[in-house]
Amino acid sequence: MNKKIDELLHLEIKKENVLEVEKKVKEFVKELYQNMKTLPLEEKKTFGAEVNDFKLKMEEKIASVKQNMQKTNEKDSIDLTLSKPSLRYGAMHPLNKIYKRFEEYYKANGYNIVSGPEIELDKYNCEMLNIPEHHPARGMQDTFYLELPNKILRSHTSAVQVRYMLKHKPPVKIISPGIVYRVDELDPQHTPMFFQLEGLVVGEGITFADLKGSIMNCISHVFGENIIARFVPSYYPYTEPSAGIDITCTVCGGVGCRTCKNSGWIRIGGCGMVHPNVFENVGYEEGTQGFAFGYGMSKFPQIEYELPELRILHDNNIKVYKKLK
Ligand SMILES: [Zn+2]
Repeated sequence: MNKKIDELLHLEIKKENVLEVEKKVKEFVKELYQNMKTLPLEEKKTFGAEVNDFKLKMEEKIASVKQNMQKTNEKDSIDLTLSKPSLRYGAMHPLNKIYKRFEEYYKANGYNIVSGPEIELDKYNCEMLNIPEHHPARGMQDTFYLELPNKILRSHTSAVQVRYMLKHKPPVKIISPGIVYRVDELDPQHTPMFFQLEGLVVGEGITFADLKGSIMNCISHVFGENIIARFVPSYYPYTEPSAGIDITCTVCGGVGCRTCKNSGWIRIGGCGMVHPNVFENVGYEEGTQGFAFGYGMSKFPQIEYELPELRILHDNNIKVYKKLK
């Protein structure tokens, strides 16, 4: 008898066996009371107290398991009286909206999109792009130098093109969008971090005419037929000849306004035929031809949305972005 009492007292009661144990205990207690009747009066008292004690302990254990089961059920069930959580919608970044239009054009024209590290080796960012150490052209892009040896924050995404050319032989047709860094005072027109979209095409018989055609088509696709591009002589160490890319002022349509300083044109980037030294540095055959171009993307949303400060693009203020439809 005592053995059975001990067994039941030490039995682990779980939600799976609680009803079974409850039934077993009830039957056993009934049996114990039956047995008690046959005992002499003195023993009856002690035995009765022991049975009562056992009964109470078992009831407590069973009640505790049942209570836990109820709590779990409440947690798992659906409370239909709850109000639904409010949904908060995001907004597409203004830069992304314009970039998507460029990406659409280049993807449709067979360009691959490639990316690379923002912490770059000086070799890829400068040296292999025909900007050796101490070359005056290094002053054109004030670079952030890091304490790590030979590493910098990339000042243009051209470094991605170098990396790509080292791994792939011509023909090449890529765009490399991404964030770049230059030491610039933070003012309404400048931020030390901005978004650039560069491109590179290398192949047999590629000429400056292909470069012009490609850029003019892209500008028409992104901004509409009324916006045209013009090419202004310029200098970049990694292209020869080089040209600045201007487009019709998208604010005044070319008539002249404050944004374009009354010229009717806005400078959006630069381009040119890749310098033979760059091709030699990446191991391409002599006589290889190709063109490269780059747009300073941050300028486009600033003009389109008339942003008073360029840094709005980096604040990530959802309330502002929602207003910029
Ligand atoms: Zn204008």
